[in-house]
Amino acid sequence: MKLVLFDIDGTLLKGNGAARRAFEGSLRDAFAMEPDPRVHYDGKTDPQIARELLRLAGHDDAAIDARLPEVIDGYLARLRREVAVGERHFTTLPGVDALLDALQPRRDVVLGLLTGNVESGAAIKLRCAGLDWDRFRVNAFGSDHEDRPELPRVARRRARELTGHDFDGDAIVVVGDTPADIACARSVRARTVGVATGRYPADELAGHGATATFADLTDTDAVVAAICG
Ligand SMILES: [Mg+2]
Repeated sequence: MKLVLFDIDGTLLKGNGAARRAFEGSLRDAFAMEPDPRVHYDGKTDPQIARELLRLAGHDDAAIDARLPEVIDGYLARLRREVAVGERHFTTLPGVDALLDALQPRRDVVLGLLTGNVESGAAIKLRCAGLDWDRFRVNAFGSDHEDRPELPRVARRRARELTGHDFDGDAIVVVGDTPADIACARSVRARTVGVATGRYPADELAGHGATATFADLTDTDAVVAAICG
């Protein structure tokens, strides 16, 4: 049995900047601040991004903790408004639909999400991209823990609760586009598949210890083989 956990941004789908606009707009609303444009969001959880930007703007952790829920709620409200206007703000990356079609029916695979997105944000993005939420049975989100390395343990616990099976070591497979995806998998000694459809080239993901890397997910048979090994 394999528990296969997909990252969202840069792995399953890409956005056109709507999420960043919504996030920054919410920070401006809540803290009357100008978010530092040099900060990268990829590989981080939503609460982690907010904390990093707010610390750079001079806020302490007590002030951040007190108003983090407001920042996240504001982000979600803005994101819902962005996606309501009809434009396709999020689109699936090449090969994703065929790969999910190949994995979902397998009796030896449990599909899930492992993402820094808060749960509601993940749902908005997947729906906008036309991805079926119900495909993913065991998930861990940025709303479960601010630290990404904690998320594989969350997914492992939920998988055990759902299936009665204790997934461990290379029975867990993390698929992601950043070194943070690869690094977080170490907390449970998971297998990792790096895909270079985000900001990082395949050789860099391999250098961070990815078990296998791909330029994209279009070679369904090869990716399934790397996952199910
Ligand atoms: Mg990503």
